[in-house]
Amino acid sequence: HDLRNEDLKDLRELGQGNGGSVKKVEHLPTGTIMAKKIVLIDAKPSVRKQILRELQIMHDCHCDYIISFYGAFISDPNICICMEYMDKGSLDGIYKKIGPIDIDVVGKVALAVLEGLTYLYDVHRIIHRDIKPSNILFNSKGQVKICDFGVSGELINSIADTFVGTSTYMSPERIQGAQYTVKSDVWSLGISLIELALGRFPFAESSSDDSDLSDFEGTLSPSRPHPTISLTREQKDKKKKRKSKGVSLQGGGMTMSILELLQHIVNEPAPRLTPEGRFPREAEDFVDSCLLKDPDARKTPKDLLKHSWIERSRTATIDLEAWASTF
Ligand code: ADP
Ligand code: MG
Repeated sequence: HDLRNEDLKDLRELGQGNGGSVKKVEHLPTGTIMAKKIVLIDAKPSVRKQILRELQIMHDCHCDYIISFYGAFISDPNICICMEYMDKGSLDGIYKKIGPIDIDVVGKVALAVLEGLTYLYDVHRIIHRDIKPSNILFNSKGQVKICDFGVSGELINSIADTFVGTSTYMSPERIQGAQYTVKSDVWSLGISLIELALGRFPFAESSSDDSDLSDFEGTLSPSRPHPTISLTREQKDKKKKRKSKGVSLQGGGMTMSILELLQHIVNEPAPRLTPEGRFPREAEDFVDSCLLKDPDARKTPKDLLKHSWIERSRTATIDLEAWASTF
């Protein structure tokens, strides 16, 4: 049953990320449609083999809220990871297409991510490390699943050597160099939920003429030394008042560099589901508890499954399959 590159026929590209690209492929011997992630890794053959061994844990991950795994192989110089294809794509793509996502759907997403994170940690002691809308996938059966979790320590190291990675969903304690814990994933979930409900990244300007959503995800990649993030109106006013240095004007909008954004996450109050009253009180409260800046005060995914908004979302009868058929 070993997967081989020769047996996979490229159908189309699904997207590009930090470390490589993802393609929709057909496994010709079985006719199975898969998503093939190609990860460019500049590592010794021994390290690549180690990564491959570590990825095998994914064969043991069986959970409705986790993308299934078909296998991984080395295709020099890349590592290819074959996983379940999700035909409605990732939630960032969905909100960019249809606008802000209904809060009842966002509740189902929160429930699915918490279930997935709890499974990964309780059963396999895995911390996800990269929760963000592009790693939350959706299909036409109405299922929500998470992907791209940190199963391989060697893979994390190898990618970290080349990229510091997307930093914008990173918790204040991680920015300050503390260890990753399941609570760092909870912070990233809180930021992601606001993004889905508002239809824009919470630290960024919404509908300015010069804004390009694809630029909002800054990285510390050496090849992209000066990514910028647009500020919201209130953040702009604050910045003006402080006469802060390092603010640049770009195409008429005010921008902040990735380092300024990281400082902002550490030093300023966490974002919230606003304006007040637009969303159910319980949803606001849930997001607030994900975004407690002190990780000791923040709850774990398992504890948050008991939150009243999550319990309500669990029993909510909203039909995600019908919702999926609207776009
Ligand atoms: P990122 O998650 O940073 O966007 P990736 O390389 O992990 O970068 O993925 C690129 C894109 O490919 C994602 O944004 C997502 O839309 C799409 N994608 C990834 N995995 C799958 C999958 N299993 N099924 C369908 N689409 C996928
Ligand atoms: Mg991804």
